Amino acid sequence: MSNLLKHTPSPIVIAGPCSAESMDQLSQVAQSLHTIPQVAYIRCGVWKPRTHPGGFEGRGEEALKWISTIKKETPSLKFVVEVASPDHVEQCLQYGIDAVWIGSRTTGNPFSINELAQSLRGTSLPVFVKNPLNPDVQLWLGAFERLKQCGICNLAAVHRGFSTFNNIGYRNNPLWEVAIELRRLAPELPLLCDPSHIGGSQEFVAPLSQTAMDLGFDGLMIEVHPSPSEALTDASQQITPSQLRQLLQNIRVRSVGTSSHELNFYREQIDAIDQQLLQLLSTRLEVAKQIAQVKQRNNMTVFQPQRWGTLLQDKIRKAQSLNLSEEFVMEIFQKIHAESVRVQEEEIR
Ligand code: PEP
Ligand code: MN
Repeated sequence: MSNLLKHTPSPIVIAGPCSAESMDQLSQVAQSLHTIPQVAYIRCGVWKPRTHPGGFEGRGEEALKWISTIKKETPSLKFVVEVASPDHVEQCLQYGIDAVWIGSRTTGNPFSINELAQSLRGTSLPVFVKNPLNPDVQLWLGAFERLKQCGICNLAAVHRGFSTFNNIGYRNNPLWEVAIELRRLAPELPLLCDPSHIGGSQEFVAPLSQTAMDLGFDGLMIEVHPSPSEALTDASQQITPSQLRQLLQNIRVRSVGTSSHELNFYREQIDAIDQQLLQLLSTRLEVAKQIAQVKQRNNMTVFQPQRWGTLLQDKIRKAQSLNLSEEFVMEIFQKIHAESVRVQEEEIR
C-alpha cells in the first residue's frame, strides 16, 4: 500500500525542532541533521496547537519561507510540517514542503480528516498520521481509510502515546498495545514512534526509542533543537543534534527474524500453558454459573463487593510471592471478575 519506506534508511528517522522559531534556529538544526544519514525528513511545527491561548502558536507562513530558502541552498533536505486544515495544506504545497503530518488532536476529528483528505487529493505528498489523543485504534485506522478514499496512499502511522489525567511519569501513556493492534490490523502500514511526546523529557527519548525498535517499529520521530533549554515549545523533551547522533549510534535495530529449534522449544511450552489457561478460565466460568444459581435462590446480588475486595487482596498478596507485578494481577482479575459478573447476569436472566 505505502511506498513511503522505499529508498529510505532503516529505521527511518524524522528529526527536528518542535517549532520553527527563527531562520537561524532552523538552518542551524537543518545543517547538523543533514550530516546524520538516518534522518530522512526534518520536522518542524509551523502552526502549533497549544493547550491555552496566548502562547507561542508558530510562525506560520514566515516559517514556510525559511524552509524554502533552506531547501534552495540544500535541495537534498526534505521537510515535514504539521497540517490541521486545508489552508495549511495549500500553503505547504505552495512552498514546496515535502511531506505533512497530521497531529494527534486532528486525527481524533473525522470532519477535519475528511477536509484534509480532500485538500490532499491529487497530490503525492507522504502523510504521517499520529494516533488520536485517546487510545482508539479504530479512530486511528479510520483516518487512514478516509485518506485512502481520496487516493492518498503514501501513508505512515506515528505512535505518540495517549493523554492521561494522572501523572504517570511519562507525558503521555505509551499503551504500546494500541500500536501493536494497529500493526496487526494494518500490517502493511509503516509504523513510527515519537518518543519525545511520549516521554516528555530528554532522559526518556533513548530508552523509548529502543523499546520501539524492540517492538519492530519502522522508524522514529524525534524532537531536536540546537539549544533545547531555550526552545519556545516542548523545551524539556528536545535533544541536541549530537545527542541524536549518539542515540542512533547506540540503538540496536532488530528484525523479525525466523523461528529456530530453540525458539520453537519454548514456544511449544507457551502454547501448552495458554491451553491450560483457557481451560481453567472456562472451568472457572462454569463454577460462576453455579454460584449465580445459589445467589438467585437466596435473592442475593450478583456483585458481592466484600467478597470481591477480599478476593482481590488475596490475589495481590499471592502475586508478590510468585514474582508477578501487582498491577498485572489486578488488571487480569478485574477482567476475569467482570466476565464472571456478566456470565452470572446472563445465567439468571
Ligand atoms: C508535535 O509533534 O509537535 C505535536 C504537536 O505533536 P502531537 O500532535 O503528537 O501532540
Ligand atoms: Mn512538540
